[in-house]
Amino acid sequence: MSTQTPPNVLTADAAGVAQAARVLAAGGTVAVPTETVYGLAARADQAEAVAAIFRAKGRPDFNPLIVHVPGLAAAEALALFDERARALAAAFWPGPLTMVLPRRADALLAAAVSAGLPTVALRVPAHPVMRAVLEAAGLPLAAPSANRSGGVSPTSAAHVVTSLGGRADLILDGGITERGLESTIVAVRPGGGWQVLRPGPVTEAEIAAVLGEPAARERRGIEAPGQLASHYAPGKPIRLGAMAAEGDEFLIGFGGVEGAVSMSVAGDLTEAAARLYACLHVAAAAPQPRIAVAPIPEEGVGAAINDRLRRAAA
Ligand code: AMP
Ligand code: MG
Repeated sequence: MSTQTPPNVLTADAAGVAQAARVLAAGGTVAVPTETVYGLAARADQAEAVAAIFRAKGRPDFNPLIVHVPGLAAAEALALFDERARALAAAFWPGPLTMVLPRRADALLAAAVSAGLPTVALRVPAHPVMRAVLEAAGLPLAAPSANRSGGVSPTSAAHVVTSLGGRADLILDGGITERGLESTIVAVRPGGGWQVLRPGPVTEAEIAAVLGEPAARERRGIEAPGQLASHYAPGKPIRLGAMAAEGDEFLIGFGGVEGAVSMSVAGDLTEAAARLYACLHVAAAAPQPRIAVAPIPEEGVGAAINDRLRRAAA
């Protein structure tokens, strides 16, 4: 990486946030740290601003975007909330939970945000920089992860520079993101039933505890268009469940499995979630043509880590 800061990177201080609000108001794109990963934000109420996100990422237009708002009141202006949705908001917002809810007919949102679905995905983020940007912009912000479509998600401003560079109008550097995995996405269906569409930092068990009923069993095919294909790909073959490196592999370790780097030497899943993408970025840049990854237990946030690893390997 170049030691010189690219001209479109600003420190996420008051001046940086003010500049971000100006760029967003004008319909531009700004990469912003959240507690999950860096997002590429644009105003969600303007078709051209939303189109700029799809263009910068090279994202297929059938893949809808998550809309970020400062609080429940702003969220209720965009989607229909029932008691269950309000209970989840009370329990997990601000935080890494996205709810897919029926979109209000009068919602001031560009159509492309929902990619033609009758629903909208909403989140109230907790990160102080994203919150400051939302306040300063005074607009709902669509913000997918700030990487080229299909690539590894960014957990630092340097990752955003490597993946998007000048394709983002502005990049706010707010350090390394704390959680490191994208938000949990839960669909709360009108008339009953709910389902996790993407596992993440908030576990299915935690959601079930709040709602007092288990997730619905049946899957609905088209509901989460971005969830099926290969994703998070570092551009090299990946072998999962590896106990040791073979031949020309770069091993990402965990717990007792020592690697060239480790997601968590202590075997801590929260730390592993936070470090997963940084390890994949290092592995992608390493000289070895192949990547191997130590086994991760399928407990708690381990389910979300394994979900990302399976799709990185697909
Ligand atoms: P990203 O912004 O890269 O974290 O991806 C956002 C994810 O949210 C994608 O996988 C989308 O498919 C999903 N998503 C966004 N809006 C909806 C929606 N209305 N219904 C179902 N999934 C959605
Ligand atoms: Mg993404």
